[in-house]
Amino acid sequence: MLDIAREQSPTLGDLRRYLDLTREGGYNAIGLYLEHRFAYPSTPWSRGAGCVTPEMIATLESEYSDLQIVPFINLLGHFEGMLYTEYGKRFREETFKGLQACPTCPEFVELCGRLIEDTVQSFKSELIHIGGDETWQLGVCPDCKARMEAVSEGDGKAVIYGEHFGPLARKVQELGRRPAVWGDMFADHPEALAYLPKETMIFDWQYFKSPIESSRKFAKLGFDVVTCPAIQTYNATWCHLRQSEQNVRECVEASRELEAHGVSVTTWECGLFGNYETLFPVIRACGKLLDDPLTPDPSPQKGGEGSLLAAYAEESESHGEWARLMSDDLEALGGMFAHGTIRSALKCRLLLYSNPFLAWMHHHEELTGEAGDRALAIFARAIHFAPTQAMRGVAEFGKLGIEFVRYAEQARQAYAQGLPGVAVASLTPCRQIFEQLEKIAVAASLNIGGSKADIARCRAARDHVERVMMRIKEYGDGSLGYLPAFEIITHPKFIPHDQASWWLINKWANE
Ligand SMILES: [Zn+2]
Repeated sequence: MLDIAREQSPTLGDLRRYLDLTREGGYNAIGLYLEHRFAYPSTPWSRGAGCVTPEMIATLESEYSDLQIVPFINLLGHFEGMLYTEYGKRFREETFKGLQACPTCPEFVELCGRLIEDTVQSFKSELIHIGGDETWQLGVCPDCKARMEAVSEGDGKAVIYGEHFGPLARKVQELGRRPAVWGDMFADHPEALAYLPKETMIFDWQYFKSPIESSRKFAKLGFDVVTCPAIQTYNATWCHLRQSEQNVRECVEASRELEAHGVSVTTWECGLFGNYETLFPVIRACGKLLDDPLTPDPSPQKGGEGSLLAAYAEESESHGEWARLMSDDLEALGGMFAHGTIRSALKCRLLLYSNPFLAWMHHHEELTGEAGDRALAIFARAIHFAPTQAMRGVAEFGKLGIEFVRYAEQARQAYAQGLPGVAVASLTPCRQIFEQLEKIAVAASLNIGGSKADIARCRAARDHVERVMMRIKEYGDGSLGYLPAFEIITHPKFIPHDQASWWLINKWANE
């Protein structure tokens, strides 16, 4: 399953490359995780530039008739791409918060029906995946809350959720297709399963442990299950290959043991300087693992033949060296490079929050010390060995991120010593850092339909660095009568003379 929703803009040519890869890997289907990145005929108001169109799907279906192209839409949670538009905000569960629509809003329920009709018209796939994951805002708005509280016995959230997805799954059936949903919310609220037609296929995603327990519960109730591992990119500077491999093996094993319908290898979030081109060997290797997970090497720890790491070495020596550096060696540094379950701190703090100085605030001790030296050495080697432009770009992202934090720390020290001129001079190279990152993002956008938002993020970061340099020139000499803390003067919301930083202290500060 390919995540297009995270700002990917694949052209028809890019999609052909993904479908060729799917064939080469021996898969029988490719899931396109779409959310708002599909030009649904019913939502002309949601068509972001570069979204996938029904015409592209029709062309691909005629060219790749041997592959099932399964649409993954999302009809409650992960509706954020719709909810944060001027038209779509009418469907939200909460204002300026979260990612869920309101299942009690009749216009939203009607829209879900139309999105299913659009999808069935646009895709020949027997399977239509209607989403349902991560609906953490169930029962929050007054209307939903009232419905939930009216449930006298049992799980009110399960009722709201089941009453939403049950009819939508049946609608898919009425249109002659088979519905599929994610399993996480049904695992949390099992009473909701009673609302689903038994033909509904449940995609059980467990990225950090075996899905055997949850999948067995679904299977015992008579549902067909697809186990879903993740290629772990969003929680890495590049990718945690060994944990990805372990997760794939666990899911294949669980699927075999339970005689499940199959396995869907998911890939997520190549925005924030991920790059799908660098993952092609992983996808091919996972195809082999799906066929035969136990041979030739049952131990992913060995990195031996048949492992995801070996898949790079098979491409070329440089591929192998680059992949080892960017997965094993980097992870061994620990700290911000260790394996975790949430989005990479470097990606978020350098670029996602429109304030790269957050990366300095949280990581300057780590990155200006020995760990930073070692990380820079790893990135330098990875850049040296990188056999492709895409692989070089990912390694450069890591290098440039650390360099930014180091220049910012130099600037902070000079600023604290009352040397604003030196502080500004220390920040001057940071403009080039973000210009260089922007070039990498442009290349990813052109080569594989990578995130256009990344390009804009780099420009915003460069502009912000310039703004901070101006502030330091103006206020770094103490002209306010006080010297704002470095994390305050570098913050986008900094206001001179607001010495107490009320914008930060008020609990609604994030608005
Ligand atoms: Zn609601």
